[in-house]
Amino acid sequence: MNLDFEKLKVQGVKVNYYYICKRKLWLFDKGITMEHNSDRVLSGKLIHEKSYQRAKAKEVMIDDILKIDIIQGDYIRETKISSKMPQADKMQIIYYLYYLKNLGITKKGSINYVKEKKVEEVELTEQDEKNIEKTLIEINNITKLKKPPKLEKLPICTKCAYYEFCFAKEI
Ligand code: SF4
Repeated sequence: MNLDFEKLKVQGVKVNYYYICKRKLWLFDKGITMEHNSDRVLSGKLIHEKSYQRAKAKEVMIDDILKIDIIQGDYIRETKISSKMPQADKMQIIYYLYYLKNLGITKKGSINYVKEKKVEEVELTEQDEKNIEKTLIEINNITKLKKPPKLEKLPICTKCAYYEFCFAKEI
């Protein structure tokens, strides 16, 4: 696919939200951020800080757009509280691998699920690259919408920081 990566590249969190909820992606893109109200985010930050206190290399910022938890040797490592959103977590780290490949850097990935104490290894495949390119195009289409995508109740809604925003009438 002939992708204009410079035009379509986004923060990793948007790839993550794309796989969780398109409406969440749109709200976040418009600067409507409510995640600071979420206990889940706070506990995630605390777990993250504790988990990697002794790591040699910590958060790495690339191009002011990509924030990678840890780069260690051949690996980039991400920390997640739990494995409730495995597809979103996997696609986020695949996006990081894809992004780095565009910069001429080849890495593997690993996701550290703190609650379950398990580590998932991720490698970038050709199919992953196609999926990420399609995802970037769709993210661009969604964020260009004048209105948020239609509201659909999802199993994760009650745990989402945007719950009040989306379901104010029901509260
Ligand atoms: S509350 Fe549900 S519909 Fe609204 S943004 Fe969150 S996940 Fe999406």
